[in-house]
Amino acid sequence: MDVAARQGSSARLASGVAIPSAVFVAGLAATFPARPAHARRRTGRRRRGPPTRLRARRGLDSVEAQERWSGCLPLDHGAWPVVGSRRPTSPVIVEGESLVLSYRDRVRGCLLGGALGDALGAGIEFHALEEIRRAHGPAGVTGLTDAYGVFAPITDDTQMTLFTAEGLIRASVRGRSRGICHPPSVLWQAYQRWLVTQRQSKPPAEVSGWLAAQPVLYARRAPGNACLSGLAQPKMGTPDNPANPDSKGCGAVMRSAPFGLLRREPEDAWSLAVECAVLTHGHPSGYLAAGAFAWVVAQVLDGASVLEGARSALRRVEEEPRGGEVAAALRAALDAAGGAAADESRADVGAAPDLLARRVAGLGEGWVAEEALAIAVFCAVAAADDPAAALLAAVNHSGDSDSTGAICGNLVGAAVGEPGLPAEWVEELEGYDVVREVADDLVREITGSAEVADRWGGATTEWAARYPGG
Ligand SMILES: [Mg+2]
Repeated sequence: MDVAARQGSSARLASGVAIPSAVFVAGLAATFPARPAHARRRTGRRRRGPPTRLRARRGLDSVEAQERWSGCLPLDHGAWPVVGSRRPTSPVIVEGESLVLSYRDRVRGCLLGGALGDALGAGIEFHALEEIRRAHGPAGVTGLTDAYGVFAPITDDTQMTLFTAEGLIRASVRGRSRGICHPPSVLWQAYQRWLVTQRQSKPPAEVSGWLAAQPVLYARRAPGNACLSGLAQPKMGTPDNPANPDSKGCGAVMRSAPFGLLRREPEDAWSLAVECAVLTHGHPSGYLAAGAFAWVVAQVLDGASVLEGARSALRRVEEEPRGGEVAAALRAALDAAGGAAADESRADVGAAPDLLARRVAGLGEGWVAEEALAIAVFCAVAAADDPAAALLAAVNHSGDSDSTGAICGNLVGAAVGEPGLPAEWVEELEGYDVVREVADDLVREITGSAEVADRWGGATTEWAARYPGG
């Protein structure tokens, strides 16, 4: 099959979800210089015999693994879609000043914003709103607090998001080093490293890569059951045979922001998020919410508002035969945001948090994926001009406060960038340096900086040790 035909083909999930013909790994590598012709001539391995794709027999690059994911092509095929710099993003207003955000500003903002929401909600995850108000005052939590014996702790939501980003970096490294990769298998391995952080109190003597060596991640903070059980299975979940087929907890959606940070088309972000969500969550609302979330992040990264991104995601979800619950939840979130705007015009400023809380309660508690996404989208849209207010609204409710806070923080942070997040909170975050470093590494990999790519587009020695993939 030639490249055009392969790109035109598509796979389909058991649920009927189309996996479009995105050339993911090839696309990740598109920002790197193409391997020069003379380099190919020097490497006889590439010149003779069947293509690399057909020679691979086992493991992450097996032909069977590739056939499960239509996006895999050998990187030296030579026909990559155009990605990378898309359209210039319009300025955002940060503290009254007009600011043009860079790609790195938005990636940092997305991951740090998610960590902030996670930390704000960490101590009140299982508390009813009345209890929260009794403990923290009538406005509930108004800033970072202690939880798990730590000030401003990050929990499983941030941990897993970081391993998602790490897996994507390693998939890209593997793709450009070996010319071949099956990204969901690489993500499966990344989540296996996260699973070790839940079973041990410190990094093992030997770890693979830089992220798994960070002691701050070795903490068990109410991880989701479906994540634990799905990753403990001997075989990874696939679209045809997903893990936990009845599970639609928010554990897949809350870790999926990085799929939207790859500078890819929203459809690509959606596809990969969905296929990696089924590693742990097999209910359509569980994995489609993850796809919709990645779609919104991709749109926001490209300069759209969260409102525009959510409207666009709603149209995408409505195309899915089994997307009814996620579509209804997103529709309810957008309707509630419209209602909140009307509330604001009628009420005095002091009543705003309570009005937002009532609207949040109408969307559910966030334990299941579509509700978590809806609450996060609602808060990010309703308080679009006030990131702190959006984050506080996303955690002060009777439900899964840290996950709704994390998802909202990812959206808000992608929209306003790191400069737009409350600096006094960001600096206090547990694991701040690790989160920021992962964000910067993702940007380095996607933009193909000289630190990560040698002259042939392969990984530098230092980078390959930090993100083994080859
Ligand atoms: Mg959590």
